[in-house]
Amino acid sequence: MRYPLMITCATLHCENIQLSNHHMLGDNRVVGMRHAGGYTLRPSPFPSRPRCDRRFISVPVSALKDMDLSLRRNEREKRVENVDGPFYVDRTCIDCDTCRWMAPSTFSRVGRQSAVVAQPEDGAARVQALRALISCPTHSIHVSNRSPEELKEAQEGLPARVPNVELSPAAMELKGPGTPAGTAATATADGVYYTGWASVSSIAACAYLIVRQGGNILVDVPRYSPVLARRIEALGGVRYIFMTHRDDVAGHQEWARHFGARRVFHELEVNTRQGTDEVEVKLSGEGPWFLDGDGEVVSAAALTGTDGAAAGELAAPCDLTFIFTPGHTEGHVCLYYAPYKVLFSGDHLCSAWGEVEGAPQDELFIYTNFNWYSVPEQLRSVTKLLQYDWLHVLPAHGRRAHFPDATARNSSALRLAAAAAPSKPNAESRYGR
Ligand code: SF4
Repeated sequence: MRYPLMITCATLHCENIQLSNHHMLGDNRVVGMRHAGGYTLRPSPFPSRPRCDRRFISVPVSALKDMDLSLRRNEREKRVENVDGPFYVDRTCIDCDTCRWMAPSTFSRVGRQSAVVAQPEDGAARVQALRALISCPTHSIHVSNRSPEELKEAQEGLPARVPNVELSPAAMELKGPGTPAGTAATATADGVYYTGWASVSSIAACAYLIVRQGGNILVDVPRYSPVLARRIEALGGVRYIFMTHRDDVAGHQEWARHFGARRVFHELEVNTRQGTDEVEVKLSGEGPWFLDGDGEVVSAAALTGTDGAAAGELAAPCDLTFIFTPGHTEGHVCLYYAPYKVLFSGDHLCSAWGEVEGAPQDELFIYTNFNWYSVPEQLRSVTKLLQYDWLHVLPAHGRRAHFPDATARNSSALRLAAAAAPSKPNAESRYGR
């Protein structure tokens, strides 16, 4: 076998990353790989070197022409690690973790990919496994028998309310635009949802939908699907699409077109290749930014007429705050949704659960090896978040974190800031910090 292409970090530019499944050969880019964490082409025609801190790489098709692509013959073959039964995972799994947290009783990690470790035992478990199948970004999950009814039930379960995320009692006192003040959220669709339908081009990033009276917000972007679009329509559609950073934007144009939604993105993240230079609202500077009574995104200065007001004071009357959190990328922004005390953290912050052996769900974590800008800057951005009263961290990648109270949250954030060792030299901030 020949290895005509030695991949080096110099060939890897975050903005050019396209994760494509190798069954998609014929496109101009193929193959997703993660060196340190574990994505590899299976069976891999690549040597295990060189190592780099980039999470995924893409390879021009032209570079693969001399390879022995006969290896692709078996890509849709059932993994031998699956237990016998109707559900199985094939060899194209990219180890994204989606099925494992969506249907943990059915899927688990065996080797460096997922497998069915127990067949669903009843109808509810089958529907749960089917939701994972729908959301698998690489269509690597299969089932040999399913009824139209149970598929419909699985589809109608997405978007799904995020468990453990409840309307805060204090939210009833919020007077800001779009808050569900004075209403019982349980009597409406108001709430925080996970959309499912992960996109391989966003490396299976989780996208969320905030359903609120002031207009719904799609946070990061799921794979475009007419089925999902109909479900979101039933929940009131999408007024804004907020994107945390440039890794998780695939499909934004289709969703924006479908709903006539305005996209919100930091100007440091926009580029022509992803079409994000066309977004309607470009955040500029360091924020924070809010939605005013007309549903317009405004800066703190515009809201108060001063630059000096404390972020916490400004956040009080507003249900949504966009917080500048550079680090993972230069223009990364998190979104704080006060009524539910939720922080939509993109790739800035997640739970250490599953990343650090023995870590509990309420231990915070950042991916220092998957950092495109500055780890020290990212840690500074973590401590900055303590100005806000979030108790739930809903990331694009990584597991969710839930805290019983502010004390537990602050302790975890400060532990993280103290312990995380920078893996890259600090980058100069464009804003001179
Ligand atoms: S959702 Fe699909 S790609 Fe992700 S871990 Fe499961 S089988 Fe693999």
